[in-house]
Amino acid sequence: MNGPTTFQTPLFCSNSAPRGAFDFLIVGAGFAGAVLAERLANELNQRVLIVERRPHIGGNAFDRHDEHGILVHPYGPHIFHTNSTDVFEYLSRFTKWRPYEHRVKASVEGQLLPIPINLDTINRLYGLSLSSRELEAFFAQQAEPKPTVRTAEEAVVSKVGRDLYDKFFRGYTRKQWGRDPSQLDASVTARVPTRINRDDRYFTDIHQAMPQDGYTRMFERMLDSPNIKLMLNTDYREIEHLLPWRHMIYTGPIDAFFDHRFGALPYRSIRFEHVTHHQERFQEVGTINYPNEHAYTRVTEFKHLTGQRHPWTSLVYEHPTAEGDPYYPVPCPENTALYRRYRDEAEKLPNVTFVGRLASYQYYNMDQVVAQALKVFRTLSERILLTRADHMPS
Ligand code: FAD
Ligand code: UDP
Repeated sequence: MNGPTTFQTPLFCSNSAPRGAFDFLIVGAGFAGAVLAERLANELNQRVLIVERRPHIGGNAFDRHDEHGILVHPYGPHIFHTNSTDVFEYLSRFTKWRPYEHRVKASVEGQLLPIPINLDTINRLYGLSLSSRELEAFFAQQAEPKPTVRTAEEAVVSKVGRDLYDKFFRGYTRKQWGRDPSQLDASVTARVPTRINRDDRYFTDIHQAMPQDGYTRMFERMLDSPNIKLMLNTDYREIEHLLPWRHMIYTGPIDAFFDHRFGALPYRSIRFEHVTHHQERFQEVGTINYPNEHAYTRVTEFKHLTGQRHPWTSLVYEHPTAEGDPYYPVPCPENTALYRRYRDEAEKLPNVTFVGRLASYQYYNMDQVVAQALKVFRTLSERILLTRADHMPS
Protein backbone atom coordinates (compact mmCIF):
# COMPACT_ATOMS: atom_id res chain seq x y z
CA MET A 1 0.00 0.00 0.00
CA ASN A 2 1.67 3.19 -1.15
CA GLY A 3 -1.13 5.64 -0.54
CA PRO A 4 -2.79 7.87 -3.08
CA THR A 5 -0.76 9.41 -5.84
CA THR A 6 -3.40 11.58 -7.35
CA PHE A 7 -2.96 14.75 -5.42
CA GLN A 8 -0.03 16.67 -4.23
CA THR A 9 -1.29 18.68 -1.27
CA PRO A 10 0.10 17.67 2.10
CA LEU A 11 -2.11 15.85 4.59
CA PHE A 12 -4.98 17.80 6.05
CA CYS A 13 -3.82 21.01 4.42
CA SER A 14 -7.12 22.52 3.35
CA ASN A 15 -10.58 22.77 4.86
CA SER A 16 -11.55 19.76 2.85
CA ALA A 17 -10.46 17.83 -0.20
CA PRO A 18 -10.87 19.21 -3.73
CA ARG A 19 -14.19 18.46 -5.38
CA GLY A 20 -14.55 14.77 -6.09
CA ALA A 21 -11.76 13.82 -3.71
CA PHE A 22 -12.02 12.34 -0.25
CA ASP A 23 -10.22 13.52 2.85
CA PHE A 24 -10.56 10.08 4.41
CA LEU A 25 -10.84 6.57 3.08
CA ILE A 26 -12.22 4.42 5.91
CA VAL A 27 -11.90 0.67 5.52
CA GLY A 28 -14.68 -1.13 7.38
CA ALA A 29 -18.12 0.03 8.55
CA GLY A 30 -18.07 -1.50 12.04
CA PHE A 31 -17.88 0.52 15.26
CA ALA A 32 -14.36 1.80 14.63
CA GLY A 33 -15.08 2.94 11.06
CA ALA A 34 -18.55 4.33 11.74
CA VAL A 35 -17.55 6.41 14.78
CA LEU A 36 -14.63 7.96 12.92
CA ALA A 37 -16.68 8.61 9.79
CA GLU A 38 -19.40 10.28 11.83
CA ARG A 39 -17.00 12.47 13.84
CA LEU A 40 -14.85 13.52 10.89
CA ALA A 41 -17.83 14.26 8.65
CA ASN A 42 -20.02 16.06 11.17
CA GLU A 43 -17.53 17.75 13.45
CA LEU A 44 -14.79 18.68 10.96
CA ASN A 45 -16.67 18.73 7.67
CA GLN A 46 -14.32 16.15 6.17
CA ARG A 47 -15.36 14.18 3.10
CA VAL A 48 -15.33 10.50 3.94
CA LEU A 49 -15.58 7.37 1.84
CA ILE A 50 -16.29 4.17 3.77
CA VAL A 51 -15.53 0.95 1.97
CA GLU A 52 -16.98 -2.23 3.41
CA ARG A 53 -16.35 -5.71 2.10
CA ARG A 54 -19.60 -7.12 3.46
CA PRO A 55 -23.05 -6.32 2.07
CA HIS A 56 -24.03 -4.37 5.21
CA ILE A 57 -22.85 -1.85 7.78
CA GLY A 58 -22.29 -2.51 11.50
CA GLY A 59 -19.39 -4.96 11.30
CA ASN A 60 -19.85 -7.81 13.74
CA ALA A 61 -22.48 -5.83 15.64
CA PHE A 62 -24.81 -5.92 12.60
CA ASP A 63 -28.34 -7.10 13.39
CA ARG A 64 -31.31 -7.87 11.16
CA HIS A 65 -34.78 -9.41 11.23
CA ASP A 66 -34.78 -13.08 10.27
CA GLU A 67 -37.36 -14.72 8.01
CA HIS A 68 -39.85 -14.84 10.92
CA GLY A 69 -39.36 -11.17 11.78
CA ILE A 70 -37.24 -11.83 14.87
CA LEU A 71 -34.35 -9.45 15.45
CA VAL A 72 -31.14 -11.52 15.48
CA HIS A 73 -27.38 -10.91 15.55
CA PRO A 74 -25.92 -12.91 12.66
CA TYR A 75 -22.38 -12.65 14.10
CA GLY A 76 -23.27 -13.72 17.62
CA PRO A 77 -24.93 -12.03 20.57
CA HIS A 78 -23.88 -8.42 21.18
CA ILE A 79 -24.74 -7.00 24.57
CA PHE A 80 -23.84 -3.39 25.21
CA HIS A 81 -22.27 -2.48 28.54
CA THR A 82 -19.84 0.25 29.55
CA ASN A 83 -18.45 2.16 32.49
CA SER A 84 -17.70 5.09 30.20
CA THR A 85 -20.38 7.75 30.40
CA ASP A 86 -18.65 9.54 27.48
CA VAL A 87 -19.10 6.51 25.25
CA PHE A 88 -22.68 5.97 26.37
CA GLU A 89 -23.61 9.62 25.82
CA TYR A 90 -21.92 9.67 22.44
CA LEU A 91 -23.88 6.64 21.18
CA SER A 92 -27.06 8.05 22.73
CA ARG A 93 -27.05 10.67 19.97
CA PHE A 94 -27.95 7.90 17.53
CA THR A 95 -30.22 5.62 19.50
CA LYS A 96 -32.63 5.33 22.37
CA TRP A 97 -31.94 2.43 24.68
CA ARG A 98 -33.77 -0.48 26.19
CA PRO A 99 -32.39 -1.26 29.66
CA TYR A 100 -31.10 -4.83 29.72
CA GLU A 101 -28.95 -6.69 32.22
CA HIS A 102 -27.59 -9.90 30.78
CA ARG A 103 -27.74 -13.11 32.79
CA VAL A 104 -25.92 -16.33 31.98
CA LYS A 105 -26.15 -19.83 33.43
CA ALA A 106 -23.63 -22.61 33.01
CA SER A 107 -24.68 -26.21 32.57
CA VAL A 108 -22.59 -28.10 35.12
CA GLU A 109 -23.25 -31.58 36.53
CA GLY A 110 -26.90 -31.53 35.46
CA GLN A 111 -27.70 -28.10 36.92
CA LEU A 112 -27.98 -24.64 35.38
CA LEU A 113 -25.85 -22.50 37.71
CA PRO A 114 -25.13 -18.76 37.72
CA ILE A 115 -21.92 -17.69 35.98
CA PRO A 116 -19.98 -15.56 37.04
CA ILE A 117 -19.58 -17.91 39.98
CA ASN A 118 -21.42 -16.43 42.98
CA LEU A 119 -22.80 -17.50 46.35
CA ASP A 120 -25.73 -19.39 44.79
CA THR A 121 -23.44 -21.17 42.34
CA ILE A 122 -21.36 -22.61 45.15
CA ASN A 123 -24.22 -23.46 47.49
CA ARG A 124 -26.15 -25.23 44.76
CA LEU A 125 -23.16 -26.99 43.25
CA TYR A 126 -21.88 -28.42 46.53
CA GLY A 127 -25.20 -28.58 48.46
CA LEU A 128 -23.99 -26.02 51.01
CA SER A 129 -25.58 -23.02 52.71
CA LEU A 130 -22.58 -20.73 53.09
CA SER A 131 -22.84 -17.05 53.90
CA SER A 132 -20.81 -14.52 51.88
CA ARG A 133 -18.16 -14.42 54.58
CA GLU A 134 -17.96 -18.20 54.69
CA LEU A 135 -17.69 -18.26 50.92
CA GLU A 136 -14.69 -15.96 51.07
CA ALA A 137 -13.01 -18.43 53.42
CA PHE A 138 -14.06 -21.31 51.14
CA PHE A 139 -12.42 -19.68 48.11
CA ALA A 140 -9.30 -18.92 50.14
CA GLN A 141 -9.09 -22.58 51.12
CA GLN A 142 -9.53 -23.80 47.50
CA ALA A 143 -7.29 -21.20 45.84
CA GLU A 144 -3.74 -21.96 44.75
CA PRO A 145 -2.18 -18.52 45.07
CA LYS A 146 0.59 -17.46 42.66
CA PRO A 147 3.00 -14.57 43.11
CA THR A 148 2.47 -13.61 39.47
CA VAL A 149 -0.63 -14.65 37.57
CA ARG A 150 0.32 -15.09 33.91
CA THR A 151 -2.07 -17.53 32.26
CA ALA A 152 -5.82 -17.95 31.89
CA GLU A 153 -5.55 -21.11 34.00
CA GLU A 154 -3.69 -19.34 36.79
CA ALA A 155 -6.15 -16.44 36.76
CA VAL A 156 -8.93 -18.83 37.84
CA VAL A 157 -7.06 -21.41 39.93
CA SER A 158 -5.33 -18.72 41.98
CA LYS A 159 -8.72 -17.30 42.96
CA VAL A 160 -11.14 -20.23 43.31
CA GLY A 161 -9.10 -23.41 43.00
CA ARG A 162 -8.89 -26.30 40.60
CA ASP A 163 -12.29 -27.95 41.02
CA LEU A 164 -14.24 -24.87 39.96
CA TYR A 165 -11.68 -24.24 37.23
CA ASP A 166 -12.22 -27.76 35.87
CA LYS A 167 -16.01 -27.51 36.05
CA PHE A 168 -16.56 -24.01 34.63
CA PHE A 169 -13.48 -22.85 32.74
CA ARG A 170 -11.19 -25.54 31.42
CA GLY A 171 -13.55 -27.17 28.91
CA TYR A 172 -15.17 -23.94 27.75
CA THR A 173 -11.81 -22.27 27.17
CA ARG A 174 -10.38 -25.26 25.31
CA LYS A 175 -13.40 -25.28 23.00
CA GLN A 176 -13.48 -21.53 22.51
CA TRP A 177 -9.80 -21.03 21.81
CA GLY A 178 -8.62 -24.44 20.57
CA ARG A 179 -5.81 -24.36 23.12
CA ASP A 180 -5.37 -25.00 26.81
CA PRO A 181 -5.97 -22.09 29.24
CA SER A 182 -2.35 -22.50 30.35
CA GLN A 183 -1.39 -21.22 26.86
CA LEU A 184 -3.52 -18.06 26.99
CA ASP A 185 -3.04 -14.73 28.74
CA ALA A 186 -4.65 -14.29 32.16
CA SER A 187 -6.77 -11.45 30.73
CA VAL A 188 -8.94 -13.98 28.84
CA THR A 189 -10.56 -15.67 31.84
CA ALA A 190 -10.12 -12.57 34.02
CA ARG A 191 -12.99 -11.11 31.98
CA VAL A 192 -15.28 -13.28 34.10
CA PRO A 193 -15.19 -12.23 37.77
CA THR A 194 -15.94 -14.26 40.91
CA ARG A 195 -18.47 -12.96 43.42
CA ILE A 196 -19.20 -13.68 47.05
CA ASN A 197 -22.67 -12.14 46.87
CA ARG A 198 -25.79 -13.26 44.96
CA ASP A 199 -25.45 -10.81 42.07
CA ASP A 200 -26.15 -12.97 39.01
CA ARG A 201 -25.69 -10.31 36.32
CA TYR A 202 -23.02 -11.11 33.75
CA PHE A 203 -21.82 -7.49 33.76
CA THR A 204 -21.80 -4.87 36.51
CA ASP A 205 -21.06 -1.81 34.34
CA ILE A 206 -22.91 1.40 35.14
CA HIS A 207 -24.50 1.49 31.68
CA GLN A 208 -26.12 -1.70 30.41
CA ALA A 209 -28.64 -1.40 27.59
CA MET A 210 -29.51 -2.47 24.07
CA PRO A 211 -30.13 -0.01 21.22
CA GLN A 212 -33.90 0.28 21.11
CA ASP A 213 -34.25 -0.18 17.33
CA GLY A 214 -31.19 -2.41 16.99
CA TYR A 215 -27.54 -1.84 16.18
CA THR A 216 -27.97 -1.51 12.43
CA ARG A 217 -30.47 1.32 12.80
CA MET A 218 -28.02 3.06 15.13
CA PHE A 219 -25.24 2.72 12.53
CA GLU A 220 -27.57 4.05 9.79
CA ARG A 221 -28.12 7.19 11.83
CA MET A 222 -24.38 7.59 12.45
CA LEU A 223 -23.58 7.39 8.76
CA ASP A 224 -26.43 9.61 7.61
CA SER A 225 -24.41 12.63 6.46
CA PRO A 226 -23.93 14.31 3.08
CA ASN A 227 -20.18 14.16 3.78
CA ILE A 228 -20.18 10.33 4.00
CA LYS A 229 -20.26 8.05 0.99
CA LEU A 230 -20.61 4.34 1.60
CA MET A 231 -19.48 1.58 -0.72
CA LEU A 232 -20.62 -1.91 0.28
CA ASN A 233 -19.50 -5.26 -1.19
CA THR A 234 -16.10 -3.74 -1.91
CA ASP A 235 -12.64 -4.64 -0.71
CA TYR A 236 -10.65 -1.44 -0.30
CA ARG A 237 -7.95 -2.87 -2.53
CA GLU A 238 -10.36 -2.72 -5.46
CA ILE A 239 -10.62 1.06 -5.20
CA GLU A 240 -7.71 2.43 -3.19
CA HIS A 241 -5.83 3.49 -6.31
CA LEU A 242 -8.90 4.50 -8.29
CA LEU A 243 -10.18 7.23 -6.04
CA PRO A 244 -8.24 10.12 -4.57
CA TRP A 245 -8.02 10.33 -0.78
CA ARG A 246 -5.64 11.81 1.76
CA HIS A 247 -5.68 9.63 4.82
CA MET A 248 -6.77 6.04 5.37
CA ILE A 249 -8.36 4.64 8.51
CA TYR A 250 -8.03 0.89 8.42
CA THR A 251 -10.18 -1.31 10.70
CA GLY A 252 -9.59 -4.78 9.21
CA PRO A 253 -7.02 -7.37 10.38
CA ILE A 254 -3.60 -5.73 10.58
CA ASP A 255 -1.69 -8.71 9.17
CA ALA A 256 -3.88 -8.75 6.04
CA PHE A 257 -3.04 -5.09 5.42
CA PHE A 258 0.65 -6.06 5.21
CA ASP A 259 -0.04 -9.19 3.14
CA HIS A 260 0.96 -11.34 6.12
CA ARG A 261 4.59 -10.48 5.50
CA PHE A 262 5.70 -11.69 8.94
CA GLY A 263 3.28 -14.65 8.95
CA ALA A 264 -0.43 -14.86 9.71
CA LEU A 265 -1.67 -13.64 13.08
CA PRO A 266 -3.88 -16.32 14.63
CA TYR A 267 -7.57 -15.53 15.02
CA ARG A 268 -10.39 -17.62 16.38
CA SER A 269 -13.52 -17.95 14.29
CA ILE A 270 -17.02 -19.17 15.09
CA ARG A 271 -19.66 -20.95 13.08
CA PHE A 272 -22.97 -19.44 14.11
CA GLU A 273 -25.84 -21.92 13.93
CA HIS A 274 -29.15 -20.05 13.97
CA VAL A 275 -32.23 -22.01 14.99
CA THR A 276 -35.86 -20.91 15.26
CA HIS A 277 -38.56 -22.60 17.36
CA HIS A 278 -42.30 -22.13 17.24
CA GLN A 279 -42.54 -21.32 20.94
CA GLU A 280 -42.38 -18.05 22.88
CA ARG A 281 -39.49 -18.92 25.21
CA PHE A 282 -36.74 -21.50 24.92
CA GLN A 283 -34.49 -20.95 27.93
CA GLU A 284 -34.65 -19.15 31.27
CA VAL A 285 -31.86 -16.61 30.66
CA GLY A 286 -30.28 -14.86 27.67
CA THR A 287 -27.34 -17.24 27.41
CA ILE A 288 -26.57 -20.75 28.62
CA ASN A 289 -22.91 -21.82 28.60
CA TYR A 290 -21.90 -25.44 28.08
CA PRO A 291 -18.37 -25.79 29.47
CA ASN A 292 -18.35 -29.58 29.47
CA GLU A 293 -20.81 -31.01 26.98
CA HIS A 294 -21.43 -30.41 23.23
CA ALA A 295 -19.09 -28.97 20.60
CA TYR A 296 -20.69 -25.54 20.95
CA THR A 297 -19.81 -23.19 23.81
CA ARG A 298 -23.07 -21.33 24.38
CA VAL A 299 -26.65 -20.83 23.27
CA THR A 300 -28.25 -17.39 23.22
CA GLU A 301 -31.94 -16.61 22.86
CA PHE A 302 -32.22 -13.20 21.23
CA LYS A 303 -35.62 -12.19 22.58
CA HIS A 304 -34.15 -11.91 26.09
CA LEU A 305 -31.69 -9.32 24.77
CA THR A 306 -34.04 -7.38 22.52
CA GLY A 307 -37.26 -7.62 24.55
CA GLN A 308 -39.10 -8.42 21.33
CA ARG A 309 -42.52 -10.09 21.70
CA HIS A 310 -43.15 -12.76 19.10
CA PRO A 311 -44.81 -16.19 19.09
CA TRP A 312 -41.55 -17.71 17.76
CA THR A 313 -38.07 -17.52 19.17
CA SER A 314 -34.58 -17.50 17.60
CA LEU A 315 -31.38 -18.89 19.09
CA VAL A 316 -27.75 -18.95 18.11
CA TYR A 317 -25.38 -21.82 18.88
CA GLU A 318 -21.68 -20.87 18.78
CA HIS A 319 -19.31 -23.48 17.35
CA PRO A 320 -15.70 -22.21 17.64
CA THR A 321 -13.43 -23.01 14.69
CA ALA A 322 -9.90 -22.33 13.51
CA GLU A 323 -11.02 -21.55 9.94
CA GLY A 324 -13.39 -18.81 8.86
CA ASP A 325 -13.79 -15.07 9.33
CA PRO A 326 -11.47 -13.66 12.00
CA TYR A 327 -13.53 -12.79 15.08
CA TYR A 328 -11.22 -13.04 18.08
CA PRO A 329 -7.53 -12.14 18.39
CA VAL A 330 -5.89 -14.92 20.43
CA PRO A 331 -4.20 -13.32 23.46
CA CYS A 332 -0.89 -15.01 24.28
CA PRO A 333 2.75 -13.86 24.40
CA GLU A 334 3.84 -15.17 20.97
CA ASN A 335 0.88 -13.55 19.21
CA THR A 336 1.47 -10.26 20.97
CA ALA A 337 5.10 -10.38 19.83
CA LEU A 338 4.04 -11.01 16.23
CA TYR A 339 1.41 -8.27 16.43
CA ARG A 340 4.09 -5.81 17.62
CA ARG A 341 6.08 -6.43 14.47
CA TYR A 342 3.06 -5.41 12.41
CA ARG A 343 2.36 -2.44 14.69
CA ASP A 344 5.92 -1.23 14.15
CA GLU A 345 5.32 -1.34 10.39
CA ALA A 346 2.01 0.47 10.84
CA GLU A 347 3.72 3.27 12.74
CA LYS A 348 5.92 3.94 9.71
CA LEU A 349 2.88 4.91 7.60
CA PRO A 350 1.98 8.55 8.25
CA ASN A 351 -1.16 8.47 6.11
CA VAL A 352 -2.78 5.33 7.55
CA THR A 353 -4.30 4.95 11.03
CA PHE A 354 -5.16 1.51 12.42
CA VAL A 355 -8.22 1.37 14.68
CA GLY A 356 -10.48 -1.36 16.09
CA ARG A 357 -10.40 -4.89 17.41
CA LEU A 358 -8.62 -6.62 14.54
CA ALA A 359 -6.48 -3.67 13.47
CA SER A 360 -5.16 -3.38 17.05
CA TYR A 361 -5.24 -7.14 17.67
CA GLN A 362 -6.90 -6.49 21.03
CA TYR A 363 -9.78 -8.41 22.60
CA TYR A 364 -11.91 -5.25 22.73
CA ASN A 365 -15.58 -4.99 23.55
CA MET A 366 -17.75 -2.60 21.55
CA ASP A 367 -17.45 0.23 24.07
CA GLN A 368 -13.65 -0.06 24.08
CA VAL A 369 -13.60 0.26 20.29
CA VAL A 370 -15.83 3.34 20.48
CA ALA A 371 -13.55 4.85 23.13
CA GLN A 372 -10.48 4.08 21.01
CA ALA A 373 -12.09 5.63 17.92
CA LEU A 374 -13.08 8.78 19.82
CA LYS A 375 -9.51 9.09 21.08
CA VAL A 376 -8.10 8.67 17.57
CA PHE A 377 -10.56 11.31 16.40
CA ARG A 378 -9.28 13.78 18.97
CA THR A 379 -5.70 13.25 17.76
CA LEU A 380 -6.65 13.58 14.09
CA SER A 381 -8.74 16.65 14.74
CA GLU A 382 -5.84 18.39 16.50
CA ARG A 383 -3.71 17.77 13.43
CA ILE A 384 -6.44 18.95 11.08
CA LEU A 385 -7.15 22.10 13.08
CA LEU A 386 -3.44 22.88 13.40
CA THR A 387 -2.85 22.62 9.66
CA ARG A 388 -5.95 24.68 8.99
CA ALA A 389 -4.58 27.41 11.25
CA ASP A 390 -1.22 27.28 9.42
CA HIS A 391 -3.00 27.97 6.14
CA MET A 392 -5.14 30.85 7.37
CA PRO A 393 -4.36 34.06 5.48
CA SER A 394 -2.47 36.39 7.81
P1 FAD B 1 -15.55 -5.09 13.04
O1 FAD B 1 -16.91 -5.07 13.62
O2 FAD B 1 -14.90 -6.41 12.75
O3 FAD B 1 -15.56 -4.21 11.71
C1 FAD B 1 -14.51 -4.23 10.77
C2 FAD B 1 -15.13 -4.21 9.40
O4 FAD B 1 -14.08 -4.08 8.43
C3 FAD B 1 -15.87 -5.49 9.06
O5 FAD B 1 -17.23 -5.21 8.75
C4 FAD B 1 -15.10 -6.05 7.86
O6 FAD B 1 -15.97 -6.67 6.90
C5 FAD B 1 -14.44 -4.81 7.29
N1 FAD B 1 -13.24 -5.12 6.52
C6 FAD B 1 -12.19 -5.87 6.90
N2 FAD B 1 -11.27 -5.94 5.90
C7 FAD B 1 -11.76 -5.21 4.88
C8 FAD B 1 -11.28 -4.90 3.56
N3 FAD B 1 -10.12 -5.41 3.11
N4 FAD B 1 -12.03 -4.12 2.76
C9 FAD B 1 -13.24 -3.63 3.20
N5 FAD B 1 -13.74 -3.91 4.43
C10 FAD B 1 -13.01 -4.68 5.26
N6 FAD B 1 -18.65 -6.70 22.32
C11 FAD B 1 -19.42 -6.23 23.33
O7 FAD B 1 -19.21 -5.10 23.79
N7 FAD B 1 -20.45 -6.99 23.84
C12 FAD B 1 -20.75 -8.22 23.36
O8 FAD B 1 -21.69 -8.88 23.84
C13 FAD B 1 -19.94 -8.75 22.32
N8 FAD B 1 -20.18 -9.97 21.83
C14 FAD B 1 -19.41 -10.45 20.82
C15 FAD B 1 -19.69 -11.73 20.33
C16 FAD B 1 -18.93 -12.25 19.29
C17 FAD B 1 -19.21 -13.63 18.79
C18 FAD B 1 -17.88 -11.46 18.72
C19 FAD B 1 -17.06 -12.00 17.59
C20 FAD B 1 -17.60 -10.21 19.20
C21 FAD B 1 -18.35 -9.69 20.26
N9 FAD B 1 -18.12 -8.42 20.77
C22 FAD B 1 -18.88 -7.92 21.80
C23 FAD B 1 -17.01 -7.57 20.24
C24 FAD B 1 -17.49 -6.62 19.15
O9 FAD B 1 -17.98 -7.36 18.06
C25 FAD B 1 -16.30 -5.77 18.69
O10 FAD B 1 -15.69 -5.10 19.77
C26 FAD B 1 -16.66 -4.68 17.67
O11 FAD B 1 -17.70 -5.07 16.81
C27 FAD B 1 -15.41 -4.37 16.87
O12 FAD B 1 -15.65 -3.33 15.96
P2 FAD B 1 -14.56 -3.01 14.84
O13 FAD B 1 -15.08 -1.86 14.06
O14 FAD B 1 -13.22 -2.94 15.45
O15 FAD B 1 -14.49 -4.33 13.95
N1 UDP C 1 -15.12 -18.58 30.08
C1 UDP C 1 -15.20 -19.87 30.54
N2 UDP C 1 -16.41 -20.34 30.99
C2 UDP C 1 -17.53 -19.58 30.96
C3 UDP C 1 -17.43 -18.26 30.48
C4 UDP C 1 -16.21 -17.79 30.03
O1 UDP C 1 -14.21 -20.60 30.54
O2 UDP C 1 -18.60 -20.06 31.37
C5 UDP C 1 -13.79 -18.07 29.63
C6 UDP C 1 -13.53 -18.46 28.17
O3 UDP C 1 -12.14 -18.62 28.00
C7 UDP C 1 -14.04 -17.24 27.44
C8 UDP C 1 -13.53 -16.13 28.36
O4 UDP C 1 -13.73 -16.66 29.68
O5 UDP C 1 -13.51 -17.15 26.14
C9 UDP C 1 -14.22 -14.81 28.22
O6 UDP C 1 -15.62 -14.99 28.35
P1 UDP C 1 -16.64 -13.94 27.70
O7 UDP C 1 -18.01 -14.37 28.07
O8 UDP C 1 -16.21 -12.58 28.04
O9 UDP C 1 -16.39 -14.21 26.14
P2 UDP C 1 -16.95 -13.47 24.82
O10 UDP C 1 -18.35 -13.00 25.12
O11 UDP C 1 -15.99 -12.37 24.52
O12 UDP C 1 -16.91 -14.56 23.79
